[in-house]
Amino acid sequence: MIDQLVYDFDEHCDGGRELLGGKGLGLAEMTTLGLPVPAGFTVTTEACRRYRAHRGPLPTELHAEIARHLGELEKRTGKRFGDPLNPLLLSVRSGGPVSMPGMMETILNLGLSDAAIKQAPLHDVRFLLDAYRRLIQMYGEVVAGIEPGCFAHELERVEQLHDTPLTIDALFELVDGYRDLYAAATGDGFPQDPREQLFNAVAAVFDSWNAPRAQIYRAQYGISDAAGTAANVMQMVFGNRDAHSATGVCFSRDPATGEPGLYGEFLVRAQGEDIVSGAQTPEPLARMRQVLPAAYDELEQAVAQLETHYRDLQDVEFTVESGRLHILQTRAAKRTATAALRVAVDMRAEGLLTRADAIERVDPAQLEQLLHPTIDPKTKLVVVATGLSASPGAAAGLAVFDADTAVARSADGESVLLVRPETTADDIHGLLCASGVLTARGGMTSHAAVVARGLGKPCVAGCAALDIDIDARTARIGETVIREGDPLTIDGATGRVILGLAPLVEPEPDANLATILDWADDVRRLRVYANADTPLDALRARANGAEGIGLCRTEHMFMAADRLPIVREMILASSDAERAAALAQLLPMQQSDFEGIFAAMTGLPVTIRLLDPPLHEFLPDPSEVEDEAVRERIEALRETNPMLGTRGCRLGLERPEIYEMQIRAIVRAAHAVEQRSGVAPIVEIMHPLVAFMSELERLVELTARTVAEEGGLDYRVGTMIELPRAALRAGELAAHAEFFSFGTNDLTQTTLGVSRDDAQGRFLTFYLQHGLLADDPFQTIDVDGVGELIRIAVERGRAVRPSIEIGLCGEHGGDPASIAFCESIGLDYVSCSPFRIPVARLAAAQAVLSAGARYVPAGG
Ligand code: PEP
Ligand code: MG
Repeated sequence: MIDQLVYDFDEHCDGGRELLGGKGLGLAEMTTLGLPVPAGFTVTTEACRRYRAHRGPLPTELHAEIARHLGELEKRTGKRFGDPLNPLLLSVRSGGPVSMPGMMETILNLGLSDAAIKQAPLHDVRFLLDAYRRLIQMYGEVVAGIEPGCFAHELERVEQLHDTPLTIDALFELVDGYRDLYAAATGDGFPQDPREQLFNAVAAVFDSWNAPRAQIYRAQYGISDAAGTAANVMQMVFGNRDAHSATGVCFSRDPATGEPGLYGEFLVRAQGEDIVSGAQTPEPLARMRQVLPAAYDELEQAVAQLETHYRDLQDVEFTVESGRLHILQTRAAKRTATAALRVAVDMRAEGLLTRADAIERVDPAQLEQLLHPTIDPKTKLVVVATGLSASPGAAAGLAVFDADTAVARSADGESVLLVRPETTADDIHGLLCASGVLTARGGMTSHAAVVARGLGKPCVAGCAALDIDIDARTARIGETVIREGDPLTIDGATGRVILGLAPLVEPEPDANLATILDWADDVRRLRVYANADTPLDALRARANGAEGIGLCRTEHMFMAADRLPIVREMILASSDAERAAALAQLLPMQQSDFEGIFAAMTGLPVTIRLLDPPLHEFLPDPSEVEDEAVRERIEALRETNPMLGTRGCRLGLERPEIYEMQIRAIVRAAHAVEQRSGVAPIVEIMHPLVAFMSELERLVELTARTVAEEGGLDYRVGTMIELPRAALRAGELAAHAEFFSFGTNDLTQTTLGVSRDDAQGRFLTFYLQHGLLADDPFQTIDVDGVGELIRIAVERGRAVRPSIEIGLCGEHGGDPASIAFCESIGLDYVSCSPFRIPVARLAAAQAVLSAGARYVPAGG
């Protein structure tokens, strides 16, 4: 139990960010550094948690503690809260442990009352009236829950009747109007007791932790719902006091480019909300040097001091009141990936950071931004809607509303965007050939989002404004109607949906990225492989630094428009001879795919996984098939639960001719490439969905026999571990496998008993939003469950075959937290999509550097 619930900014507190919130901690640290921070105190996150737990008004003991700190504040400032003559005015600002910009509430100018206005000295009347009307509005909206538009209408009404800036009389009229509004909406007058104002403001800030937008933000960024926010109570300083007053935001370097030098905006005679609301346009900070030179110099020094103290790019809010600088907040600045890299490399050169620090300063997940095409920033865009930025990169193409049309039109050489209410496994062929995906429903972990990220394609998901009529082949966004074939652009980095084909620019190589990744490569132990299915993917992976291919999914080669009809013939063949003929047609196609991939990966291992999905995934919807016999055949192949049906090695064992064809294609391709280049490809053949040793034994034998029939090849054979039984029996499997690769997508599904496609957007999203799960287990490995199976498998596999190579190739292979887990249990490599290779290289280095990445089992 923590007893103290309120801390003065200059009071020692061990609770750190968790207890004081990020803003509170910053204010305390800045106060200790001697920077000009207005006096105040922080009501802790623990107070918020207690308040929320007992679901009533603020507990009385908290009232007493706040009152005590208020007394201290009055002494310090020489002013009294509620004094009509010279009132102490306060702000209350939210601030949780993790920054959630703009998601929670702030209330300014607390402590004003009718009496204070009445007794104000003449030169202050105008200023206080303006502060009072802002208080009534903010308090009315935030505490009393009055519709925001009401006050704006009243302001508009008064402004229409009078000249602006409003005269004192007009301001009186406005304040009267606001008070009437308040009374009409609440049935009560605006509270005249400043303490009541303060306590209610603190409670309202605590309540804003649970505002819908804050909940959505937390769900999106994986922030815990339990933490709560602190409330920072601080003496008001006024950027709107006079012509020597201003307010602004300042970064210690440019957060977009990382360029050194102060960067920011300010506004003379204004309060922060004027900038945030966009009501007035701020000026570049450089002008402040001319307008308020002394304050500018002081700001420059303070910001430099903060940057040196935190050894990180800072985002500082400040106010100048009558020429005096006050710092209201500092925090690590949000920055683009470009800026993050430059700042890290520059700060290393400046001696502020070690190489290890510099590696740790860059968020690996952000690097993906740098590797995708973006919209040419010079273009004027017609943005019609915004959804979730589900997979980075921009894509421009013609709108299509179903997967088959996507395949058909892209086969004609057109770039298409697949637009769907949401996608399912049945849309995979459309996702594969589309340039990008736009969905109306689903979140960051929806099928569309996950698959698009895996494929390195842009995706905007959950674009609620989009009203799709699949039958009519239209999507409406308000008045705008998008028809099939209409040009459209999506920006997966920002979630924007744009009319027309916006010009795209390829990413420029970033020298700082290369530097940081070089440093990371020196540090990391895990090798980083790519999941790549085509020569183009392989080349991209290699360019991004992949040290091999950890997963080549051969089914994607079966989906291409020129292959699909032959694949269908193969599946639906009514005789062995017919099937053999179709396979014979497929073989050279597969061979040429493999030749391209081997050629791209000279000198590096290529792990080819034999066919995995259930056959009916390749077949058309039976209702669209005319031939009755064919329709019956398709129906016969339909399974209730295909994920757990005839797929993976089960298929390969039942229909060995498919795997034999694939193995022949691999061997022939390897021979051809070796003959051409003189270098033998490093071939690894991998069997999917193995559960029993007997399966693997037979598959290894089939592989060896087929390779021998093709004239032999130096190769390795291994298995995926993607079923709990395989993990538990890894010892037996290791007797037959030269390598293991954890297929954590399936292993997560089968360990949790959760079908990814059925969970996301449904109960899994609910679980995440309601704190039943902290992370999506399909993005970040479930360390305690799936991770435990992996540990068991590693232990048992290595006990039997100490030299066994072990990697991980599920979606988690590109996730920094999961990579930290892989490091902690000593895997040999992770394999991820080509676009995530730099992410994985950096994350693997960070995993070595951060001791916190060590795996600690739950309860242990
Ligand atoms: C896996 O299951 O983790 C895996 C890599 O295979 P796929 O995603 O193709 O099922
Ligand atoms: Mg799998």
